[in-house]
Amino acid sequence: MTALLEVRGISVSFDGFRAINNLSFEIGECELRAIIGPNGAGKTTFMDIVTGKTRPNEGQVLWGEGSKSLLRMNESQIAQAGIGRKFQRPTVFEDQTVAENLTMALSAPRGPFSVLRWRPSADSAARVAELAAEVGLAEHLSRKSGELSHGQKQWLEIGMLLAQDPRLLLVDEPAAGMTLAEREQTTTLLRRLSEKHAVVVVEHDMDFVRRLDCKVTVLHEGSVLAEGSLDHVTANPEVIEVYLGR
Ligand code: ADP
Repeated sequence: MTALLEVRGISVSFDGFRAINNLSFEIGECELRAIIGPNGAGKTTFMDIVTGKTRPNEGQVLWGEGSKSLLRMNESQIAQAGIGRKFQRPTVFEDQTVAENLTMALSAPRGPFSVLRWRPSADSAARVAELAAEVGLAEHLSRKSGELSHGQKQWLEIGMLLAQDPRLLLVDEPAAGMTLAEREQTTTLLRRLSEKHAVVVVEHDMDFVRRLDCKVTVLHEGSVLAEGSLDHVTANPEVIEVYLGR
C-alpha cells in the first residue's frame, strides 16, 4: 500500500515530559485505521502534530506522493493539502439548517478567507444534497441542526469536512455518546468513507473498534506498542498489561 502519511521518528516534549517518543508509522491511501491506547498515550498530541497545531522537537511528518514535509506548513496549509480533523464534540451551527451548514462548509473549501471568494451556484446546491446523502442526512436537509440527534450532528460535521474534499480524515472518538443504532450507522459510514479517503479513528470503545474491522495501532507512552488486527493486538501481553495496569 502506498503511504499517504508517514510519521518518522517524531518526539514531542512538554516541559521535559516526552508525550510522543520516537513515534513512527504510516497510513495508506484509502486506509481505515484505528488508534487506541490508554489516557495519556499521546493520541491527541499525534493528531495535533499531523494537523500542525503542535510541532515535534524531532522527526518528520511526510505527506502524499512527493513526501512533502507537513512540518513546513501551517495549520491552514495542512488543511488545504487535504487533511481534515473532526473533534469529539460536534461543532455545527445549531440555528442553521443542515443544508446551510453544508453550504457554509462548501464555501470555505480548504482554508480560511476562501469564503470571501466563493459564490453560491446551482452546482453547490447539488453538492450539498450529495454530501447530505453521503452522511445519511438526505431527509433532513431543511431541518435546523439544533434539532438533530447527537449522532446526526456528528454525521453532519463529517459531511462538512467532506465538503473540503480531504484525502485524510482524522476522527476523534466518533462513537462517544451515540445510541447503539447510531454507532452501527457510524461504522458503516466510516467504512464507506474509507473507500475514497484515508480515515484514522481515535477510539476508546473496543466494541466500536471491533466493528470497524481494520488495522489497529496501539499507542503507549508516545510510541507504538503493537499494530495489527484487534485480535492480534489484544492478545499481546504488553497491551494486556497496559490496559489492565491502569
Ligand atoms: P491521549 O490523547 O492519548 O489521552 P495526550 O496526547 O492528550 O494523550 O497526552 C499525552 C501526554 O502529554 C499526557 O501525559 C498529557 O498530560 C501530556 N500533554 C499533552 N499536552 C500537553 C501540554 N500542552 N502541556 C503539557 N503536557 C501535555
